[in-house]
Amino acid sequence: MTQHFIVIGNPIAHSKSPEIHTLFGAQTGLDICYQRQYCPDDAASFTAVIEAFFHGGGIGANVTVPFKQIAYECCAARGGLSEHAKVAGAVNTLLLNKALLAKGVPPAEALYGDNTDGQGLVNHIQRLGWSLQGARVAIIGAGGAARGVVLPLIEAGIEQLTIANRTLSKATDLVHELSIASTAIADKQIKTCVTAELSGEFDIIINATSIGLSGETLPLNNALNCHFAYDMMYGRELPFLQHFEARGAQTSDGYGMLIGQAALSFERWTGHIIDVAKASEALK
Ligand code: NDP
Repeated sequence: MTQHFIVIGNPIAHSKSPEIHTLFGAQTGLDICYQRQYCPDDAASFTAVIEAFFHGGGIGANVTVPFKQIAYECCAARGGLSEHAKVAGAVNTLLLNKALLAKGVPPAEALYGDNTDGQGLVNHIQRLGWSLQGARVAIIGAGGAARGVVLPLIEAGIEQLTIANRTLSKATDLVHELSIASTAIADKQIKTCVTAELSGEFDIIINATSIGLSGETLPLNNALNCHFAYDMMYGRELPFLQHFEARGAQTSDGYGMLIGQAALSFERWTGHIIDVAKASEALK
């Protein structure tokens, strides 16, 4: 029987998730149908669409902008949250809590939320051959994407973390909130600064800002260097990566993170492990 999945967002037409998951279905021999689902930008519409999907037998849903926080609230009040979703304050993967279903709870009340974005990033960096164990890492940006990657990076064994942002208060607020949510994060004593003041030598610098959408460039300090620069954005020219390439660093965009988070969602839903390297090659 065909298993049904959706990615819900607004806008959604650009999403590459259906191609990625359709490939996973072919790789694993599962009969799946994965579709884009547009939704008006309000919580009531999101809840109505998701309830109808799972009530109708849907197996799993990915959640993208602007609904990740709404999905978090929805799951917190119903079927629960994974540790990564709790700390991220955001959900990108919806599934049903089987223990609740077994007790007779209806699907709409059994919605469970996970967040695979951060682990998708960690897996991609490791796939590229970089060890995070003992690494000195800087993240530029303090929005939802940065929030979601901090715990997985710490779990992967990084030594030091600095979060730089255009608006310093957002970086300090983020560290404060994350430290309350997780003792592993509190123990790490994350440093913060304004982006232009981020300087020194790092193993890895991750651009988690949305600046690539604007055509502007980040004000990077001349005394800032790294071995490996990673931009979470993909599918366009990225001045952040060009800047560090010119300084001799290796670089990567975030397309592999997208495939990585998708693979983890697929695994949560179906129990099938994806050969991400093979899938990435096929999707090139
Ligand atoms: P948010 O809107 O939550 O945060 C945006 C961040 O970018 C803030 O830190 C903001 O700084 C900063 N920023 C925006 N414009 C500028 C600018 N002109 N100059 C300097 N800083 C700027 O976005 P998200 O965190 O959700 O997403 C960030 C990026 O990560 C996006 O590009 C998204 O596509 C990408 N992403 C990629 C994924 C993947 O799978 N590859 C998964 C998830 C996200 P300030 O606080 O000062 O406003």
